[in-house]
Amino acid sequence: MLSFALSYEGRSMSEAHIFVIEDEESFVDALEVGLAREGFTVSVARDGFEALEKFDEVNPDLVLLDVMLPRVTGIEVCRQLRQKSTIPIIMVTAKSSEIDTVVGLEVGADDYVAKPYRIRELVARIRAALRRNAGDITGEVPRPTATSVVVGDIELNEAEHTVTVRGESVAMPLKEFDVLRLLMMNVGQVMTRELLIDRVWGSDYYGDTKTLDVHVKRVRAKIESDPANPSKIVTVRGLGYKFERPAT
Ligand code: CA
Repeated sequence: MLSFALSYEGRSMSEAHIFVIEDEESFVDALEVGLAREGFTVSVARDGFEALEKFDEVNPDLVLLDVMLPRVTGIEVCRQLRQKSTIPIIMVTAKSSEIDTVVGLEVGADDYVAKPYRIRELVARIRAALRRNAGDITGEVPRPTATSVVVGDIELNEAEHTVTVRGESVAMPLKEFDVLRLLMMNVGQVMTRELLIDRVWGSDYYGDTKTLDVHVKRVRAKIESDPANPSKIVTVRGLGYKFERPAT
């Protein structure tokens, strides 16, 4: 494992720790240099098995995960990490055409990037993912202190990043959390697809809009009594989604 941090004048040392899981040396080299230059601490694993073994020890703030990896695939690594962690995971695919396939597998990643990518673009996505994460470890503008939102039998606490469904706590990765939060905070109102994508993924998001549907599907699986016939997050055909007001 390579691990190092750079700091420079006027900049906080408290930049985030990125766990780069990548087997192509040229990408590893570029990322180590490029991310360190941005002030990130970088740790590297070169295959999926090594990644899973080292994850706890590395204890990163964000995972950058290549899909095609030796020994254990990135898909499987993502699945296993999601069983124990809600930290942001950005998956890297070999081609943009693979993104749909990977998104469709619903492994719980927060964002998807296709190779080749520009480091600057990637850093923007990393920062966006970290900003959305509770605690704002990037040292940028902190999120406003939020209260909990309760709609019917669902409670969402932004400060604690917790979701309770019918008294049971459920694990919710960042993007799913953000989608649910926006819908709950605007209960009874239609939220257009464009607005949701813009608010959750950022106005510079250029990925597939299926990503939103996949996230809504995952949230439904966690909060709906009957996810196949949702009564909380309903689809408003041609427009977007709406969190229904609970029946009184
Ligand atoms: Ca690879």
